[in-house]
Amino acid sequence: MNLIQKIVRMFNPMLSCEQINQFIIDYLEDKLPAQTKKKFEMHINKCPNCSAYFDQYNDTVMMVNEDGMLEIPEDLAEFTRTFLREHLPQQQ
Ligand SMILES: [Zn+2]
Repeated sequence: MNLIQKIVRMFNPMLSCEQINQFIIDYLEDKLPAQTKKKFEMHINKCPNCSAYFDQYNDTVMMVNEDGMLEIPEDLAEFTRTFLREHLPQQQ
């Protein structure tokens, strides 16, 4: 990118779809500066392509997060199995 393009980009009030794609992860992790965040949201609201992409991406990330939270560490699972073996009454 040359200097003129950089300056044009700096003063361009709208983000391009390409930039939105690059910012999605930062946005979801809440790492964008407030101003960029605002522009990001403005673009998502106006651009059907990006809003569809964003929704899809958002759903995927949420699923991964839920799985991660539900996942039981192997140590804990083993501890639970041992505990149950030792403490549950034997089934007849
Ligand atoms: Zn877009």
